Amino acid sequence: MTRWRQTGTQEAISSQALIAATARFDAEVAAATRAREHYWLALVGFVVSPPMLDSAVLDHENIRVAPVVGCYVCEEPWTELTATRRCKGEPR
Ligand SMILES: [Zn+2]
Repeated sequence: MTRWRQTGTQEAISSQALIAATARFDAEVAAATRAREHYWLALVGFVVSPPMLDSAVLDHENIRVAPVVGCYVCEEPWTELTATRRCKGEPR
């Protein structure tokens, strides 16, 4: 069981839910890659010390990397222009 906590709230994510999310992610990336469609992700970086995922506090106080949106497949950042272009696939 992994617990992702935020100020005032705590959400427990079961191992089964994480495994299902990983499988869904892999399937969606594969489908997007075949269709040459971008797979946009918003990534946020949290600092954790010590890095213990089962008790990590993920809230506004330990954000170190603001949300960055980019394509997981081609690694291009989201812009209005890149959003209109087909995904080029894995970066070369
Ligand atoms: Zn892409």
